[in-house]
Amino acid sequence: QNIIIHRVLPMTKRLIQRVTNEGDVVVDATAGNGNDTQFLAETVGPNGRVFAFDIQQEALDATKERLEQNDCLTQVQLICDSHANVKKYVEAPISGAMFNLGYLPYSEDLSVVTRAESTIAAIDALLDLLKKDGIITVSVYDGHPGGPEERDALLEYVRTLYQKDVHVARYELLNQRNNPPFMLAFEKMRDFTTHERI
Ligand code: SAM
Repeated sequence: QNIIIHRVLPMTKRLIQRVTNEGDVVVDATAGNGNDTQFLAETVGPNGRVFAFDIQQEALDATKERLEQNDCLTQVQLICDSHANVKKYVEAPISGAMFNLGYLPYSEDLSVVTRAESTIAAIDALLDLLKKDGIITVSVYDGHPGGPEERDALLEYVRTLYQKDVHVARYELLNQRNNPPFMLAFEKMRDFTTHERI
């Protein structure tokens, strides 16, 4: 089947693939169980670098196991810290970054969720680190406690970005059940290392 209107998660991967080559540096801002980390590690290959963040050791352990099983751990640095601190660990230029917001699936404690303040701080920092034409994808869920607040703050934040600096798009399937995510995609339109907000 030759799908064109993909569901959100495959669409995030397609966008990242468009801007990422072997040997590039990329960021997984929310490692979780390592799905996106593995995808990024396979996309940049053994000569590339993936910086994968999570605030839960449980998530990084699951990610590490997945990467080992798929023979792509060597190009990944696992970082147990908030993505808001990305500039402490990562230098420009990066080609892309992915966020998958919400809680760690299958965890016993579903109360640890991404929060607007750190998510926005991380996107802001990653926009500075991104090369021109680079892409950030954010999969946004609003079906869990705290989700609607994070969604609303994000939608307010994106309106403060100048269009000459960044293009921001929202993508979603409108006929899916069970609170599917929507995607925010950010494309860096010109070179900058610190941007202003409206
Ligand atoms: N992409 C992941 C996967 O493929 O399994 C799923 C990510 S999960 C929906 C969200 C993750 O974000 C959780 O593991 C959670 O611990 C993590 N998280 C929450 N706040 C964070 C923060 N400030 N910095 C980094 N990770 C955070």
